[in-house]
Amino acid sequence: MQISESKRLFAHAKTVIPGGVNSPVRAFRAVGGDPIFISKADGAYLYDADGNAYIEMINSWGPMILGHNHPLIREAVIKAMESGTSFGAPTAREVEIAALIVNMVPSVEKVRMVNSGTEATMSAIRVARGYTGRDKFIKLEGHYHGHGDSFLIAAGSGAITMGNPDSPGVTSGTAKDTLLAPYNDLQAIENLVVANDGEIAALILEPVPGNMGLCLPDPGYLQGLRDICTREGIVLIFDEVMTGFRLAKGGAQELFGVIPDMTTMGKIIGGGMPVGAYGGKKEIMEFVSPAGPVYQAGTLSGNPIAMAAGLTMLDYLDTHPEVYSRLNEIGMQIASGISSINQSLGLDFTINQLGSMYSLFFTQESVTDFESAKTSDTALFGKYFQAMLHRGVYLAPSQFESLFLSTALSDDLIGKILQAHEESMKEIIS
Ligand code: PMP
Repeated sequence: MQISESKRLFAHAKTVIPGGVNSPVRAFRAVGGDPIFISKADGAYLYDADGNAYIEMINSWGPMILGHNHPLIREAVIKAMESGTSFGAPTAREVEIAALIVNMVPSVEKVRMVNSGTEATMSAIRVARGYTGRDKFIKLEGHYHGHGDSFLIAAGSGAITMGNPDSPGVTSGTAKDTLLAPYNDLQAIENLVVANDGEIAALILEPVPGNMGLCLPDPGYLQGLRDICTREGIVLIFDEVMTGFRLAKGGAQELFGVIPDMTTMGKIIGGGMPVGAYGGKKEIMEFVSPAGPVYQAGTLSGNPIAMAAGLTMLDYLDTHPEVYSRLNEIGMQIASGISSINQSLGLDFTINQLGSMYSLFFTQESVTDFESAKTSDTALFGKYFQAMLHRGVYLAPSQFESLFLSTALSDDLIGKILQAHEESMKEIIS
């Protein structure tokens, strides 16, 4: 594997872009070595600037659930472009995608399109505050909701990967309204509710968190949160930026049968274009301007090209339920393959998997929350990452991320991934 062009590009990038990248985890800081620069992607493969091919296990951090460069999405984008790239005025396509989202996602009765997951969560919290007239909200440790100020407190994803779960630049005034609790701990929520009686606007969480590595909800946990929020008049927000349209066409809320008051979405919803959305109960969404007083806007929101990509993606998922059974199969084959290889090597590492999301933790503890996720040996993870990359498998360059599989993974490729896993494990433990 030759990566001289990537190295040259990174050296130049560092002189003109902070850290050489436009999003921190891409810099490979947590796993050592220089990042590889990508020149194109197709199906199950990424191709770097030196011409090396890699089997994709992240898929642009989630959006490319059907693999890269899917012909239907490519054609929809090209066709939309022929009519212009941005109007800043309403279009039929926005109505169509909104109606489709309302149809697919159980909690969503009305929806507003934005340009990223970050915008979706920032806006949802503002609306929940406007709706309840309360200031505080509960966030769970190790969950990531984008880079809005009030979420960069005990944040997962790149924030923990870079060692900045509490980012400088967030004022103490902002931070004091973010209340923290561990995941999978209902009593901790009850305690916060008592200590902040009548002051909590919202509880936001990743129902199945992927940003501290993948963790699963304990049985009854999500319903327990639902019950507390209903009792206390707290707006329950599921951040389904990762899980939406992935764990099921209606996201984790459909899979677990627990319906939040609001949902934030991103990634798959844009088919690879920069799109996010937030939606929920009519009476809450009616607070959004111009229907109501809570302001939120966007020059490029509902962009016609982005909507064409998103609409094509969602329409495909809506009409092809077999996508989800295939993704479950792929996820289970990979996770059970990794488990049996690890067992045969006498390794007792933890693997969490649900559908097409999984994380391998280099710890013998079961990983159920931020504290247990942090017991993973991240140095060993770094070696594993490099060993896999060297064998042409592109993993997320951080322990504190989930992997996102796509339907482009054939059985043959799954065999290759497992072979690379076995060789990599043997190499790093020898
Ligand atoms: N919420 C969750 C659960 C996420 O995983 C992410 C991004 N990984 C975000 C919000 C932020 O989305 P974006 O990067 O599009 O701003």
